[in-house]
Amino acid sequence: MQVFDRIGGDDYEQVVFCHDRASGLRAVVAIHSTCLGPALGGTRFYPYASEDDALEDVLRLARGMTYKAAAAGLDLGGGKAVIIGDPVLLRSEALIRAYARFVDSLGGRYITAEDVGTTQADMDLIRRETRHVTGVSRGLGGSGDPSAATAYGVLYAMKAVSRHLWDTTSLDGRHAVVSGVGKVGYGLVRHLVEERARVTVSDVAPAAVERAVRDFGVDSIPPEKAHAVEADFYSPCALGRVLNANTIAELRCAAVVGSANNQLEDAGCAELIEQAGVLYAPDFVVNAGGVVNIAEELIGYHRERAYASVRRIFDTTSAVIGQAASLGITTAEAANRLAERRLAEVGRIQLIRTTSRRGNP
Ligand code: NAD
Repeated sequence: MQVFDRIGGDDYEQVVFCHDRASGLRAVVAIHSTCLGPALGGTRFYPYASEDDALEDVLRLARGMTYKAAAAGLDLGGGKAVIIGDPVLLRSEALIRAYARFVDSLGGRYITAEDVGTTQADMDLIRRETRHVTGVSRGLGGSGDPSAATAYGVLYAMKAVSRHLWDTTSLDGRHAVVSGVGKVGYGLVRHLVEERARVTVSDVAPAAVERAVRDFGVDSIPPEKAHAVEADFYSPCALGRVLNANTIAELRCAAVVGSANNQLEDAGCAELIEQAGVLYAPDFVVNAGGVVNIAEELIGYHRERAYASVRRIFDTTSAVIGQAASLGITTAEAANRLAERRLAEVGRIQLIRTTSRRGNP
């Protein structure tokens, strides 16, 4: 892959390759934009098949964070990091702390947090090397793992979709298929059961399915069939790119509302979903709860205030669905326009000089 061609196309500001032979650390930090503030995004620890795959993933995810933060109304830019390797085999104190020192070296341009394969305990270790980390434990002044807030936000996106489709915010009696019952999916199932929805779960990890079935008395289905179940909601809460021409043709749900990042295999899939008569709630609007919650750490964490902000995902989702309907565009396009408008309008005020200095003092 030609790296500069790839990062220039979507205007990435900075891509940093981090290496520490002794601990086995191979990581990439991608900063897509600091237009609205420091680039915040989690660290994914994953056994990528190739370095190209890792780079592709971190670039897509970092750009997604710019849009997520912008659409959620945060004063944050977009970034993301990946550590290449199997966290079960490779994780060590030395590796995590070596990675943390690279994060520190960016001087706050990038702020990290949990993502797939990393935990609150990792963030606490990272905190020993740098201030530029969120999602640390409450004892360290943090808000803890953001997954609970993400799940709460997905619930409110579902309520917004429900009001649009069925004129009620109640999910009582609705059927939701949650694919991926890890940190976010499990929390979402809990909320849905509390809302008296009917839930079917699936996961590639049998233990995750067993836990959800045991704890909540829900049904389960093999992961390759999850998208094709006749249901009110299909909720992808595992990895991205689950919506492609093949899976979209098999959708039997009224709406797709899930936490997974980058659910569409490519931009054209948004049209296909609409043609299939399925309402797609854009991923970066739906799954902003985690970043909204941890952004509160930067001003002093207060749970009630943070969760009130997360509930605004209801309004953002409703606005996006409304805009799409009135402009005759897909919901994905409406969400992009919402984010791009804020980047342009609020990003522009950075041009207003607040001191008389120019260049070196
Ligand atoms: P997780 O690793 O805790 O859970 C993911 C689950 O998906 C695991 O149980 C895994 O076994 C399962 N899985 C993997 N491949 C699967 C497949 N093909 N079919 C079904 N299940 C599969 O991760 P998480 O933190 O719950 O995040 C889930 C998704 O939500 C990811 O895409 C993540 O990027 C996104 N997301 C998470 C947060 C957050 O706060 N954690 C915030 C925004 C977005």
